[in-house]
Amino acid sequence: MLHCNAAKLASARPLGSTARCPHCGDCMVAPVVSEFVEDGEIRHHWECDACGEISTTSIPLCSP
Ligand SMILES: [Zn+2]
Repeated sequence: MLHCNAAKLASARPLGSTARCPHCGDCMVAPVVSEFVEDGEIRHHWECDACGEISTTSIPLCSP
């Protein structure tokens, strides 16, 4: 009965969507909101667990 829950946790984390808080440098695992921008990028809004500051990152989609 030794099932590995770590594998499930790892696969549940979205690829390439981790960021560091620009205010305190803490790791933020999941964005609060993700939105699609018409320019062809995805914008993630983060709220830091450590300091509570809001920050935004933009990730370009497949560039030509
Ligand atoms: Zn922070």
